[in-house]
Amino acid sequence: MKYLYCLFVAVATTVSACSSKAEEPETVHESLPAWQEGYMDIHHIATGRGDAILAILPDGTTWLQDAGDCGPSWYSTGQGCPVLPNSSKSVGEWIADYVKHFTAGTPSAGELDYAWLTHFHGDHIGTADNALNGDKGYKLTGITMVGDRVKIHKLVDRAWPDYNIPTEELCKREFYLYGEYKKFTDWQTANNGMEMERFEVGAENQFKMVHNPGAWPDFSVRNLCGNGYVWTGTGTSTEKMYTDASKLDENMYSCGVVIQYGKFRYWNCGDIPGCNWPDYASQERTFETPVSKVCGPVTVMKLDHHGTFDTTSEECLGNLRPKAMIALSSHIRQPYKDQVARMMDENIYPGERELYVTTDCSRNELGDLFSYFKPAGHIVVRVYEGGTKWQMFVLDSKTADCDVIYKSDIKTL
Ligand SMILES: [Zn+2]
Repeated sequence: MKYLYCLFVAVATTVSACSSKAEEPETVHESLPAWQEGYMDIHHIATGRGDAILAILPDGTTWLQDAGDCGPSWYSTGQGCPVLPNSSKSVGEWIADYVKHFTAGTPSAGELDYAWLTHFHGDHIGTADNALNGDKGYKLTGITMVGDRVKIHKLVDRAWPDYNIPTEELCKREFYLYGEYKKFTDWQTANNGMEMERFEVGAENQFKMVHNPGAWPDFSVRNLCGNGYVWTGTGTSTEKMYTDASKLDENMYSCGVVIQYGKFRYWNCGDIPGCNWPDYASQERTFETPVSKVCGPVTVMKLDHHGTFDTTSEECLGNLRPKAMIALSSHIRQPYKDQVARMMDENIYPGERELYVTTDCSRNELGDLFSYFKPAGHIVVRVYEGGTKWQMFVLDSKTADCDVIYKSDIKTL
């Protein structure tokens, strides 16, 4: 029990007493109903310091996308969000605890069948400047902390094994954790059975269920983009989205996927950009447009680049038409005002849509626009058997109890 992130025990009735809140005896705490075979749960873990997304696939295969810890110095003073639920543990430790708690009761209990990294920025993999010392020769932050605490069977990144995409110099230019990351992957592959793979743009079989895939044939993960390439929509062929590699920044290499389960579809493309912006070296930044075009409409969208100013373009929203959008926020302006206004604009695409955000630290910057969001916290997308019904949950991230603080109606596709 020492690894339990949340101090309640999930029960079939969906309601359980919370042992951590003995001082509040009248309060009934509702926990997330336990995962069951056939469910697909996608947890957007609210850490305040970057992206970490845990998916439990229909057969119980476990899959972690990114494990960021941008540290206190990544943003200007006062612009970063606090660590959630509190700073008594590092972000990587909180992520590891969360993974252990929510994978309990699955065939992969306490372990990750896959971990993968969209790109090499600190808010997606961890930073060296606040890393802790470990006992295996590598420092602990973000993904290296998670991998130290949770067994990872396979780790996928965009440039293994040579880290030379598009060149070694350009690959490592913003890969500040490279030295510690390499020590981590070398130790884990040599001593703990971890496999490494490069993300294959265009593939539909790189992330396969490992326990009982035959039971859920309507499930797939398509690798849509990565390293500046986009899937063409035919076979596994790809095409380039840029002309001058020397001007690309790390966000532009972001890898992205669409997960399909029955009629349900989920978009997650890391930090790919969608709008030009004079401050950047490359003005070939409309990557969202070709990627969203080949993807087509989705049910739920994880906002690209945290809903920052160079993303969430009209073209992208018009192609994806999401019914729910999720911002992973670690900065006072994530997501940005213009992006939120665009997300709510029914001239871009008609119909209802719901907005979710992992932290409330953009409340002041967004002003009245913040009222469009459901309560901030861990955001869980639950897709029911066969992928015809889905539901959204928000779990409390400000204490370590993960109570349900919001749930949507169950929606039919
Ligand atoms: Zn990011």
